[in-house]
This record gives sequence, C-alpha cells and structure tokens, in this order.
Amino acid sequence: MALLPLHLLGSPVLRTRSAEVNTVDDELRQFIDELFETMYAAKGVGLAANQVGVARRVAVVDAEEQRYVLVNPVILQSEGRDTAEEGCLSVPDVYGEVTRPERIVVEAINRDGQPYRIEAAGLPARAIQHEIDHLDGILFLDHLSPLKRRMLVNRWKREHQKDGGYIRELQPGAGGRE
Ligand SMILES: [Zn+2]
Repeated sequence: MALLPLHLLGSPVLRTRSAEVNTVDDELRQFIDELFETMYAAKGVGLAANQVGVARRVAVVDAEEQRYVLVNPVILQSEGRDTAEEGCLSVPDVYGEVTRPERIVVEAINRDGQPYRIEAAGLPARAIQHEIDHLDGILFLDHLSPLKRRMLVNRWKREHQKDGGYIRELQPGAGGRE
C-alpha cells in the first residue's frame, strides 16, 4: 500500500462534485485502505477521495474511535446546531469556527458494498459532514463569513506561495489535521 498525494487549496479537483460509485470491488477496497493509511499518516480524522485527486464519492472517517467507510454517503436527517473549530488536510495550518447540525443520520455503502445507516453526533458527525462537503466540492472555508474566509485564504497564499503546485507528498509522520 502507498500513501496517496494530498491535493491542496487551489487544486481544481477539490472544487469538483465527485461521481457516484457504481461497484465496490477489490480495486475500490484497496483505495479505501490507502485513504485510511494516508489519513492516519497525515494525522487527520477524515479524508475524501478528491483530496487525493480522485473525484469519486468515497470518504473515510475515524473520530473518537468511530471508524466509517463512506461510499456514496447521503445525509437523511440532521438536527441541532453546534459550532467548533475545523481544519482540513487540504488547507494546512488554517482553522476556523464552523457551525453545522449537531446530530445526523447518514446512509452510505460500506467496504463490503452493503448499504448501512450511521447515527452520529459531536465530532464524528462534524467530520462526516466535512467529508460529504468535500465530495460536493465544498470546503470548510465556505462556511465562514466572506471576510474571515478572505483573511484566512490570503494568509494561506502568502505562507504557501513558494510551495509550487497543489500536491503534497506525505512523509510518514507528517503533521496536519482534518
Ligand atoms: Zn477537509
């Protein structure tokens, strides 16, 4: 298995609505395993396929010991409101307070190709919503006020203008947060 390259803010695939997955086969299962491996190496709590340049509706989450494979995830119900700080492996070192529903019910397909339901609250619910946003081409920055977003993006551009390109090869033990 290999660590997958992370796509950073500015990469067009992060703004693409990813396509539904038709079949869960061995190739997809291997990709799911590599998503987990890459997420753990980057010390994130979630990772969506388009963050590694693959515009398919697949994401993984591991938050507070709740581990989810999300293929074609759909939010069926959401309740409450909760505000907390979020970051993203595709926008390193940038954090902002995001308000989202506190509890959600999600339907998705698992690693075996079976549909299942998730009821989540707190951090796992936040991480799942953050990843589903990714699959729709939405970043957590989009939930901030325009002023706050512009400030954070401008600072990020200043700090990362020398990076050259939108892709970051992960080294084992690299930092980051989703
Ligand atoms: Zn993210």
